[in-house]
Amino acid sequence: MKILVVGGAGYIGSHTVRQLRRAGHEVVVFDNLSSGHAGALPGDVTLVRGDLLDAQSVRDTLTAHQPDAVIHFAALIEVGESMRAPARYYRNNVVGSLNLLQGIVETRKIPLVFSSTAAVYGTTDAVPIPEDAPMQPESVYGETKLMTERMIHAFGAAHGLPYVILRYFNVCGAAPEGDIGEAHANKTHLIELACLTALGQREKMMIFGEDYPTPDGTCIRDYVHVQDLADAHVLAVEALHAGKQRAATYNVGLGHGFSVKEVLDAVDEVVGTPLPREIADRRAGDPPRLVADASRIVNELGFDPQFTNLQDIVQTAWNWHRTHPHEFRK
Ligand code: UDP
Repeated sequence: MKILVVGGAGYIGSHTVRQLRRAGHEVVVFDNLSSGHAGALPGDVTLVRGDLLDAQSVRDTLTAHQPDAVIHFAALIEVGESMRAPARYYRNNVVGSLNLLQGIVETRKIPLVFSSTAAVYGTTDAVPIPEDAPMQPESVYGETKLMTERMIHAFGAAHGLPYVILRYFNVCGAAPEGDIGEAHANKTHLIELACLTALGQREKMMIFGEDYPTPDGTCIRDYVHVQDLADAHVLAVEALHAGKQRAATYNVGLGHGFSVKEVLDAVDEVVGTPLPREIADRRAGDPPRLVADASRIVNELGFDPQFTNLQDIVQTAWNWHRTHPHEFRK
């Protein structure tokens, strides 16, 4: 298959490009490189530098490259920033996705795999969270993902566009080879921050709240390894191409969670030295426990995550950060 990967130069996109190539697919990446890195892509992949807000360039790319399917990762992803700059988020994430959907139905009507997020659920009492849990996003970011999901349903119904929506839980880790990994401009993710602290780039780790109703008082999250998540995209796009799926939404997680303290203990083990830690106030908007009910993707697509041990997950992140302290910059 030939697959157009929109936002393919980013963290999850670049790992997915690698797994698609390993599965024998041809890949064209469309990315504005606002946060992605050309250096994260294999040399045999075509990179089209373009922006989803330029509807003509989206159509031109679809027409010129004639892909069999599209995987759409391109989005702004910072929850805090989305609350301060909502217009940027609605424009980039919702209008950008609309341009892509319109381009697809006008040119080729090929299947779409879309990156969504557990943030569409907002705070929920459901543990674990099934796909049909109520959706009440608490951030503009989550709202833009939910709006895009709804547009995709509508395009599916109106134009027969086949799609799979993947709702990611806490994505983490790096390629086991250690050559690509997380490199966000604004660092907020627990494992990445802990690795940077171990490298001396940060002074200490802050634990955001120790008084949650969980066994050790810290928040529990479902940490899914980026390469397993990449494989979920390969499964989804292949199922669509084979006509086995036409309109499906899946959680992607391990189905069990780890607490902030468990993660930091695992980092201490992997790094070989205890990181300085401090208990801080709760971070606004953090629910105590977010764990996926991932049974649907396991049963329907055969999702079979390889990284289920927390130390193994952290080890891959540490390999990347240790060998690339300046990420993709030389
Ligand atoms: N967290 C923390 N200290 C940090 C960063 C994160 O205690 O420096 C906690 C955060 O409050 C949450 C968990 O770690 O409970 C995962 O946060 P992250 O930002 O990695 O992902 P999120 O769950 O927000 O998507």
